[in-house]
Amino acid sequence: MSDAQNNMDMKTYIDEAEAALLHTYNRYQIVLDRGESTYLYDMNGKKYLDFVAGIAVFALGYHYPGYDDALKAQIDKLIHTSNYYYNVPAIEAAKKIKKVSGMDRVFFTNSGAEALEGALKAAKKYAWLKDGKQDHEIIAMNHSFHGRTAGALSVTGNPKYREPFEPLFGTIKFAELNDFDSVKNLVTDKTCAIILEPVQGEGGLTPATEEFLKSVRGLCDEKDILLIFDEVQCGMGRTGYMYAWQRFGIKPDIMTSAKALGCGVPVGAFMMTERVAQNSLTSGDHGTTYGGNPLACAAINKVLEIYEQDKIVDHVNQVAPYLEKRLNELKEKHDCIIEHRGIGLMQGLKFDRSVGSIINAALEKGLLLINAGADIIRFVPSLIITEQNIDDMIAILDTCIE
Ligand SMILES: *Cc1c(COP(=O)(O)O)cnc(C)c1O
Repeated sequence: MSDAQNNMDMKTYIDEAEAALLHTYNRYQIVLDRGESTYLYDMNGKKYLDFVAGIAVFALGYHYPGYDDALKAQIDKLIHTSNYYYNVPAIEAAKKIKKVSGMDRVFFTNSGAEALEGALKAAKKYAWLKDGKQDHEIIAMNHSFHGRTAGALSVTGNPKYREPFEPLFGTIKFAELNDFDSVKNLVTDKTCAIILEPVQGEGGLTPATEEFLKSVRGLCDEKDILLIFDEVQCGMGRTGYMYAWQRFGIKPDIMTSAKALGCGVPVGAFMMTERVAQNSLTSGDHGTTYGGNPLACAAINKVLEIYEQDKIVDHVNQVAPYLEKRLNELKEKHDCIIEHRGIGLMQGLKFDRSVGSIINAALEKGLLLINAGADIIRFVPSLIITEQNIDDMIAILDTCIE
């Protein structure tokens, strides 16, 4: 096929997509076909350096050695059972997650949002068992993002996402991340949980401060309020620790994980301490058909095995300072970049304008980037990126800003 014909094919597919799919995304005008390590290829064979990683999903890049084979082997055995039976991959995955997360009990889900739903239900049940009341309140953060299902959306601190669908999940109050008084002022006798991302992702790559987390933890302990950390994006090594709470040394009562947990296979989990487990969800309170199926759990097992054997988190700590340095240099060079934020391989550049045209120009030049809000470019590449990848990315981005 000639290039011209391939081009036409890609355009035809895009037209077909727009005629068949519900229009909830403004998609970039390419059809992706395959991936290799830190690169993606569209259906015309054009190569892209990938600094999106499926939005913080492909922590190991594409086709990491051993990953595909582990999935194929499980497909040949069994891909689904039911949660009414046990399966070995789920048992192994739960044991591994307990070890790396520091939590005591695990519930597998199919997505990040579904993990949030479970976490919120656990907190409500905990409070209900305590006082038998049904009017408990949750404190969440402005600019947070927790997912698009009703419960997860209710604690998402972006009114634009929530408004058409309200009322959602009971009384939710919004405080400001890193402003302890704003949290404290919202606490009442009815507060059952405080939920936050230790590093805000979609909301703009803002890390919580250790001082803030410490104060919130203290408040929760004092009032018997459950602290929920949403580590769907910042977990799995991205901040240079397996889970971000370990970076700050502030442990939550309930935690969520997803995105990189299966490195491409849809899977999530919520976890909790034994104390919460013994006083919240019990038989019949929660369920899922697919969650924790052997295929998804085979992915988790292989991913966590690779993290350990190949010291993936150590690599993050080696390469992240270089990304930070190069992004800072870029900020110094261009007046339109007003702020550099984030930690580890979860960083962002805030511009004084909308970043859409820069991202589109980068795409033209073979670099995939993603925004976080209108004016921030978010860098959430695979955790295996090299300094060379970073140099290549910066070189392209630099020309796109000019
Ligand atoms: C992506 C994300 C979610 C939602 O996960 P889905 O798998 O898209 O449902 C929840 N919380 C955070 C912090 C996220 O980044």
